Amino acid sequence: MAPGTAAVRRMVKSLVFDHAPRVLSRGPADRKRIAITFDDGPDGDTPRYLDLMETLGIPGTFFLLGDRAKAHPELVREYVRRGHQIASHGYDHQRFTALGVRTLLDQCQRTEAALGTQLTGRPWVRPPHGSLGATSLVSLLATGYTLAMWTLDSCDYGEKSPDALVARCSPERVRPGEVLLFHEGQDWTLAALPRIVKNLQAAGYECVTMQDLFAT
Ligand SMILES: [Zn+2]
Repeated sequence: MAPGTAAVRRMVKSLVFDHAPRVLSRGPADRKRIAITFDDGPDGDTPRYLDLMETLGIPGTFFLLGDRAKAHPELVREYVRRGHQIASHGYDHQRFTALGVRTLLDQCQRTEAALGTQLTGRPWVRPPHGSLGATSLVSLLATGYTLAMWTLDSCDYGEKSPDALVARCSPERVRPGEVLLFHEGQDWTLAALPRIVKNLQAAGYECVTMQDLFAT
């Protein structure tokens, strides 16, 4: 019996995820390097995140929403000025699976306009909620996008205890090439980060941008 549509979609998705060079999740494991990434900015707390990253002396990768970036061009410039990587997280956090192809690509283009040229040349995008159907996936890849996913979710959108976040991102749970997912605008994330970074560095990990992690 021929496989159903859902089964075909799953097959396409797993094929692309496992084999497409432009779907990034785990980085190379040959060096003890990881990338710390933040979604959903910029907002009023962004300067606190940037100050903290400066204190910690590490670069981050920030996936920004187009409408927020458009409203805060000064913050968009500040990420870049301080040596961080910025990339798209869609325009207004709608699930890509809920958008028609034309709307999706139009929103992605508007987000890029608000972000300015990305260092990676080809634009990177991280879908809101990680939600990606076969149609949006194939459309984005065909249009030249690189999809930037993650491998370790801190779950800081639900978990508000800094101690629990520190435990979840402890060196015992992290492997070389890991891409850690955090969010902006959250006191508990800011509170947990210094210990998370200190523990990882003590275990020999270097924190780099996602672009550097994958640029081998
Ligand atoms: Zn998000």
